[in-house]
Amino acid sequence: MNALRDVDPVLADIIVREEERQRAEVNLIASENIVSDAVLEAQGSVLTNKYAEGYPARRYYGGCEVVDEAENLARERACALFGGDHANVQPHSGTQANMAAYSALLNPGDRVLAMDLQHGGHLSHGSRVSLTGKIYDFHHYPVSPKTELIDLDIVGAMAKELQPKLIIAGASAYPRIIDFAGFAEICNEVGAFFLVDMAHIAGLVAADEHPSPVPHADVVTSTTHKTLRGPRSGLILCKEKLAKKIDSAVFPGGQGGPLMHQVAARAVCFEEAMTSSFREYAAKIRANAATLCEILSEGGLRIVSGGTDNHLVLVDVRSVGLRGDVAEEHLSRAGIVVNMNMIPYDPNPPRHPSGLRLGTPTITSRGLGAEETGRIGRWIVEVLQNPTDEERIARIGNEVRELCDGFPTRI
Ligand code: PLP
Repeated sequence: MNALRDVDPVLADIIVREEERQRAEVNLIASENIVSDAVLEAQGSVLTNKYAEGYPARRYYGGCEVVDEAENLARERACALFGGDHANVQPHSGTQANMAAYSALLNPGDRVLAMDLQHGGHLSHGSRVSLTGKIYDFHHYPVSPKTELIDLDIVGAMAKELQPKLIIAGASAYPRIIDFAGFAEICNEVGAFFLVDMAHIAGLVAADEHPSPVPHADVVTSTTHKTLRGPRSGLILCKEKLAKKIDSAVFPGGQGGPLMHQVAARAVCFEEAMTSSFREYAAKIRANAATLCEILSEGGLRIVSGGTDNHLVLVDVRSVGLRGDVAEEHLSRAGIVVNMNMIPYDPNPPRHPSGLRLGTPTITSRGLGAEETGRIGRWIVEVLQNPTDEERIARIGNEVRELCDGFPTRI
């Protein structure tokens, strides 16, 4: 960072300190990951200088012939990786991808059925505080109060009653396999479009560690920066018949010029995700999540839905007499970074919820395996069972730092 240090030493110092923070802490935030140096290089490249409104060979700017190649690569690789007919690699984020998909499929005021935020859904699935919830008539399905799993009988009954134009599957805090074929059947029965937001599980889908939504859904949206381990951005896959509508909804419908450095970084990420080492990585994410889940459960923490099939574990910390925000703070003092989360039927408000969401994408990228994940699980139990024991938390903090020293964050 020689140039940056010269021009802006203050900002250079911020970046150095953030890198050090990432290195020194155990990051269990389920939606985060660490990208490869190859992705970082593409993001930090001169492609950031280029305006390229439009699509390859149909741009509104001159000089796009080289960046066209980058976008074509990203589109082709996305289709090869996930098997879709058409890919749009321009959405700046997952929320932008969802907004574009909705505007391609719906008119303002149209009815949509999606997963409740409190039960694992996402803000961009029609929350009242999101533009999506203001433009469209969203209704939300819960998980079963008994099993805390998605219950297709509940979804089907709601779909029959509401007759939505669109049904959404996909979540940001759901630890189990989602039955996309079952959802597609309901959509067929009621004549609704089917959209899957696979943001959290895209890396698992790419590696066949979660069933793919692509054969079942009309449109699949995603982020590329979670389990898929790419740059921060969005992605839309769709059937050929919707390609034109999706493309115009992204540009000019919802965005201006694509971020060509981010498009290029997506191409790198898709290439990486096609390798056998990525497939091994995705399998290890799940194995580590299963290990974590087992240790936490043995330590007396209640696991929402009783387990995990994917990269995340949702913990009800009321089982140790805590709230999610308080538990997050205690763990943070020991160098373990997590986020508080609502749990299904949570009696507590979003700022003081009953849960913690823990995920293994980042620690797995750093090379931690079953043994280290087991240690982390035992530290979490120790902290949450003894939150006022400062000496113990300081000792665990030292052990966390020692563990982190052995596992790089640059991959
Ligand atoms: N969809 C789901 C299921 C998510 O979990 C997220 C992010 O957490 C998003 C969409 C939004 O992604 P972004 O933060 O890139 O807008």
